[in-house]
Amino acid sequence: MNETDQIVMPSVWSPDAAALISFVLRFWFDNRRAPNTADVYHGMGFDHYTAGRLYRELQLGLAAVVADDRLQLNIIKMLPFSATPTPNKLIIDGQFITYLGCAGEAFSVSGLPMLEDTQYEVQSSCSCCYAPIRLRYFGPELQTPQEELPMVAVVGNPHMWEHGVPADRVCDDFHFVLDDAHAERFGRRISRRHVTMEALRMAALSRPIAQRRLRDPASRLWLDAQLHMDAFASLGVDISLWRPADDPAADDSASGRPPG
Ligand SMILES: [Zn+2]
Repeated sequence: MNETDQIVMPSVWSPDAAALISFVLRFWFDNRRAPNTADVYHGMGFDHYTAGRLYRELQLGLAAVVADDRLQLNIIKMLPFSATPTPNKLIIDGQFITYLGCAGEAFSVSGLPMLEDTQYEVQSSCSCCYAPIRLRYFGPELQTPQEELPMVAVVGNPHMWEHGVPADRVCDDFHFVLDDAHAERFGRRISRRHVTMEALRMAALSRPIAQRRLRDPASRLWLDAQLHMDAFASLGVDISLWRPADDPAADDSASGRPPG
């Protein structure tokens, strides 16, 4: 592939798309629901065609999942929030605020300006046995003691997430589990192999996204498999399972070849 064949994606949102992310997340947090088309019209002045075009821009940059081909433009996700139920709930003072996209968003939510100086919890459960999992935060600070933190099982890989893949497809690969044994049981049940990582590594991976969302409204995410794999590897996550089978560093058992 020569240089001119490469898809060039803008590294920033258009100003209207950036403003729409900000409006939707703040409206959602204040009202505990996503805005509908009338809310977007009254709040932002965007008519139906404009809102649809902006949502499509946000979907390509992995910030949203919206039924953009429906007249109601139903918002399914505006990350980190999810309108559709997931295992992860944001709770303040015992009150449900919203679902969160996935185990990754359970950490990236901590950067939201609305949660500064606020005590809150992310409530979730083990994906194998539904044992409760709780992350306690004050603002951006995760306060749950390390020995009480869960693991994250990743059951897909960065090659499956890049370049326009819908955000809810990516979210579906990140799951909380109590520990390695529970990850193993979960993997067997869904017939998928997995990479596990400690919660603090997932938190570190989410931190750059968390710190920029809403605070640097122009910044957009661009998922590239190699960049993403490098990020996991730099945190000490064993990603040999994700390497192509002909890569010497690939996991032998993944390819069906005898080890060694
Ligand atoms: Zn379990």
